[in-house]
Amino acid sequence: MPTQPIEFHPPAEEAAAILLPVTTTLFADRADRFDGLAVGHSLADWLAFLGQLSRAQHQALKNVPALPLPDAATLEQARAHGMPPLNLALRPAAWREVLRQIAGELRKDAPEAAGKALDALLAADNAWLEKLADTLLSGEMEAGDAAELPFVAAALQVVFTRLASQFDATQLQKLDAHGICPCCGSPAVASVVRLGAAINNLRYLHCSLCNTEWNVPRATCTACDTDKAVGLHEIDGAKGAVRAETCDTCKSYLKIVYQEKDPRVDPVADDLATLALDLLVDEAGYARSGPNLLLIGAYSG
Ligand SMILES: [Zn+2]
Ligand SMILES: [Zn+2]
Repeated sequence: MPTQPIEFHPPAEEAAAILLPVTTTLFADRADRFDGLAVGHSLADWLAFLGQLSRAQHQALKNVPALPLPDAATLEQARAHGMPPLNLALRPAAWREVLRQIAGELRKDAPEAAGKALDALLAADNAWLEKLADTLLSGEMEAGDAAELPFVAAALQVVFTRLASQFDATQLQKLDAHGICPCCGSPAVASVVRLGAAINNLRYLHCSLCNTEWNVPRATCTACDTDKAVGLHEIDGAKGAVRAETCDTCKSYLKIVYQEKDPRVDPVADDLATLALDLLVDEAGYARSGPNLLLIGAYSG
């Protein structure tokens, strides 16, 4: 009997509008990237610690069982109204267990300031943890919570990444607001110009919370959608893997990372390893359009 070639993947002629997170590799690859970026960096200790944090996220995600997704009626309603299907206010309680796992794992050899925050989180009651999550997700930070928030963010990233991974990409649709995640409604942390058969040279925005990616046009502002006054900036001597895309119409910016320049680039890790670029474009009068949730504490010092 003649053997037929078996096709494991759908034909690749059409680029995916939405790329869902791959739970088996996402946080492990990010941890490796932080480790690599830490070498010889002026913020080496901090980047290496974020590598440990990403590795703890990877371990915790393995222990999170499948979580309940919104029912068919809720999904249909979201679709009809052009809304994302996940509601941040209805987060699964499992995130608090994930937080305790991550905090317990990191506590062993955390630097002093982080250690204090981790101890506080390990001793926290559910009400305070939920209040911290509300603070983080609303974007309204209070300086007193600053040290705890990156760990709260890390735990929420784990459960929302699990939820996002359980969708079929065809259940999701891109929203009218380009910079907002079509899965959970959070702002993008950065965009990635990807390599790969059907997605080569296409630009995807990367969700700051659930790690979903969605295709957006290149050379167009992801905040206000104009292509009139978009510019690219980088630090002198950088190799072009990370740039800041600025818009003179709305005076916003967001980083863009290029797999072609370095296939290991990660929108979260490479963003945090290039804070000098944020300073450069901040000084030039541009305001960042989306947060890096692992940096929240650093803003209020
Ligand atoms: Zn999202
Ligand atoms: Zn703009």
